[in-house]
Amino acid sequence: MKKDIHPEIKDCKVTCACGNTFTCKSTKSEINVEICSECHPFYTGKQSRASRAGRVDKFNKKYGFTTKEAE
Ligand SMILES: [Zn+2]
Repeated sequence: MKKDIHPEIKDCKVTCACGNTFTCKSTKSEINVEICSECHPFYTGKQSRASRAGRVDKFNKKYGFTTKEAE
């Protein structure tokens, strides 16, 4: 490797909005994320709070649409 052209790799502490923390390698020493593998619905299999009372629901309510298929 050439000298002085590579960024320094440090242990990086990642903090998620859900409270989960883990470490990885990065040029930054700390990263704050809003979603991680512990709370993302893709990994948990559950619907998150964000998508339950999300923008789509608000939109549907505002314009009188319903999310139920048949009424
Ligand atoms: Zn998280």
